[in-house]
Amino acid sequence: MNLSFDDLQSICTWARSDWPRLAQQWLERGYDSPELRTLADLVDSTRAEVAVSVMPSVLRSLGIEVADEGFSEYEASGFGARCRAAFAVVQADLDRTGFGRFQMSPYVTTAGSWITAYAQTSDGRRWTNDGLGITSYTNATQIVASAASLVCDTLLLCKRVRWPRCAAHQTKYLVSRYPSWRGDHLVPADPDGEWWCNSDEPHPVNRLGNLQAADVVPDTGSPTVGR
Ligand SMILES: [Zn+2]
Repeated sequence: MNLSFDDLQSICTWARSDWPRLAQQWLERGYDSPELRTLADLVDSTRAEVAVSVMPSVLRSLGIEVADEGFSEYEASGFGARCRAAFAVVQADLDRTGFGRFQMSPYVTTAGSWITAYAQTSDGRRWTNDGLGITSYTNATQIVASAASLVCDTLLLCKRVRWPRCAAHQTKYLVSRYPSWRGDHLVPADPDGEWWCNSDEPHPVNRLGNLQAADVVPDTGSPTVGR
């Protein structure tokens, strides 16, 4: 019985010290293996590092391919926490521009030995972006811009909503730029990067995490593509 994506994702949303309790939930959900029981038995232990060392073998015993090396790097880098922080920046832009009805969060899956984060809607709609998600190797200066791109694409593909649309150009939409982007003339000063209007006359709009309601076309409450 292979671990579901939802259960796999819970690794990123639970604190490491809670993983033994997570393992108990998995057991209650019908997964079972000696490795999983070993992890579940660590409840009441404060040795989070033991849970971390056991998890790769637990995952393999439940049908998930994961390399020790990839997993330890993913954990050591605080990957789950970094993804949640990056998505929170983008969510602030959604909320501030009046699109708070869309609550976006990272979800995590494996591809080979890679653990990759994509965007999902609050009702569980996902798009894996042709495999181009956030990995533990996504540069720290790129992760917010990547999360923004994943959110935009997932809203478009799953909700038929194009966000954010440039208030000045109406039919054009904004794209996220890495702070290292050097294109024609600008290196954004903010470490999180910027929203850029992707029109024939490209222009900076605001930094990621600081998009304002006046910057974008308001939410119509209905799909913005396909009409
Ligand atoms: Zn524009």
